[in-house]
Amino acid sequence: MFLSPFLRYCLDMVRIGAEAWRAVIDHCLSAAPEEACGILLGRREGGGVVVLDAAACRNAHPGDRRKHFLIDPEQQLAIQRAAREAGLEILGFYHSHLNGSAQLSEEDRRQAHPSVSNVIFAFRDGKFVEARSWRIGGDGAAAEEAIVVEGVTAAPRAASENADGC
Ligand SMILES: [Zn+2]
Repeated sequence: MFLSPFLRYCLDMVRIGAEAWRAVIDHCLSAAPEEACGILLGRREGGGVVVLDAAACRNAHPGDRRKHFLIDPEQQLAIQRAAREAGLEILGFYHSHLNGSAQLSEEDRRQAHPSVSNVIFAFRDGKFVEARSWRIGGDGAAAEEAIVVEGVTAAPRAASENADGC
């Protein structure tokens, strides 16, 4: 199905429950100085997705895990099975950047799973900076999706982490 970039933008929205949001940020902070990675689980609703749970994964990258990540494939399979049993589906993947930028790197773009959300949580000096969600199309182009945390809209960039405290 072809959608204009504008329409795609309108349709693609990632809603993240406050608990899952907090869990991801805590996981990223505890994994520092290595990049954290994990899987976002939930349901599809209308044109967007609702993230209800975040499964933290082991960063299995054989190289410098401060700059690269690889979700353990066996762990991913186990999470996939458990999610199916719980009636949830894999909506996307998250990982952290510790340089303060939630921009997709070239490597991120290459290894991103198509048709799911790829959310990057950026930190600098041990503090959360921003989160941005990217979806890679069949042509390899990345489109940004709006992130909404528990009903707080802060498109296209996610709100600061205290958004869930309002
Ligand atoms: Zn990255």
